[in-house]
Amino acid sequence: AHLDRIERLNPTLNAYLLVDAEGALATAAEVDVARATGEALPRLAGVPVAVKDIACTQGMRTTAGSRMLEDFVPPYDATIVTRLREARMPILGKTNMDEFAMGSSTEHSAFGPTRNPWDLSRIPGGSGGGSSAAVAAYLAPLAIGSDTGGSIRQPAAVTGTVGTKPTYGAVSRYGIIALASSLDQIGPCARTVADAALLHEVIAGHDPMDSTSVDAPVPDVVGASATGDLTGLRVGVVREISGTGEGAFQPGVLARFEESLEQLRALGAEISEVSCPHFGYAMAAYYLILPSEASSNLARYDAMRYGLREVPGGSPSAEQVMGASRDAGFGDEVKRRIILGTYALSSGYYDAYYGQAQKVRTLIARDFEAAFEQVDVLVSPTAPTTAFPLGDKTQDPMAMYLNDIATIPANLAGVPGMSIPSGTADEDGLPVGLQILAPAMQDQRLYAVGAALE
Ligand code: GLN
Repeated sequence: AHLDRIERLNPTLNAYLLVDAEGALATAAEVDVARATGEALPRLAGVPVAVKDIACTQGMRTTAGSRMLEDFVPPYDATIVTRLREARMPILGKTNMDEFAMGSSTEHSAFGPTRNPWDLSRIPGGSGGGSSAAVAAYLAPLAIGSDTGGSIRQPAAVTGTVGTKPTYGAVSRYGIIALASSLDQIGPCARTVADAALLHEVIAGHDPMDSTSVDAPVPDVVGASATGDLTGLRVGVVREISGTGEGAFQPGVLARFEESLEQLRALGAEISEVSCPHFGYAMAAYYLILPSEASSNLARYDAMRYGLREVPGGSPSAEQVMGASRDAGFGDEVKRRIILGTYALSSGYYDAYYGQAQKVRTLIARDFEAAFEQVDVLVSPTAPTTAFPLGDKTQDPMAMYLNDIATIPANLAGVPGMSIPSGTADEDGLPVGLQILAPAMQDQRLYAVGAALE
């Protein structure tokens, strides 16, 4: 049924870059046989899943939304893909994304934008717009996303779906095409909190192949999503990302946020305001740290080992081949960030830019620590606006970056975050997201709160 729907709707939505009907049906058939013979199967066996094209899939083209990897067929699976296979989940295909996960609208994909199923003239968020649009339009019940600054949560918000960025290190990054290694996290996209919890449980857990992987038991996110009792829960509203101060949030977004707070109160939670004074510097720090790490990670696309190879005429040197290949293979946003990152890391500037940004990062982590001494979870709108029209912000990088104002602090501090649907904005009828944030390794709190509000 999902494959039929993909065939019908994907030409319009462009949520999938690759569909593996044969592979998905083969896995489904195997599960059917196993079930018929009474074999014990994992909980999600036979439930199809879509995978963001940032995760390596053995024998299945993996592009990261870039011309640079247009013909790249990985020789191995990312750990999370191995986990999906072990869970016997048919992999429907690979979903569209901003090139190397840089963006908030999926318009930076080298393979055309994904459209928002709610309004085809609008963006589905980014960078994981393909995964969220696929889930929102019932082209997949579940999908994998990656979140470096909001790429799971913001697409979830603008497509009316659920998305979780787990605690940094909770899900393996082995085999994930790296954007900014100290910020990247893999997580689930779903239509309900309980569905997200089930996928979270499949992909989370220690992996010796990822040196940043946390070696601790996975919190009981599935159990938490089944509770719903919030009596006495202390909920903090972060003044700096509540949208009431600077950085205008859309009125319809703020109205839904106020309603969510009312709902939380009605469920027995105690709401208070907390201040995280350094959150105002999060964007600036992020847009130094991310380009710095990205410029280093993307140095591997040298046209020698794998990826696009452009050979200019004459007898070009290796350096000329690299130059021509990187010029042809990378889009404008990727080049912009490589230049910015290389500059910020260069000798003489390192302390002033990268070093300074790292100090700000520490202050933001301390803001979270102080806040979580007072409250159990924090809430905010996920994004300042609903889905904006395609083309609206492509010429204005700063406007695009501002979408992540509420989601970036969690990545800088490594804490988990979730976006759940909280109705639609009165002015445009488009979905609004509520963000829930919890202390590191307390991912289950997101699910408890999310499920109670759903
Ligand atoms: N929109 C943010 C950026 O462009 C977040 C990206 C992400 O989370 N991968 O960097």
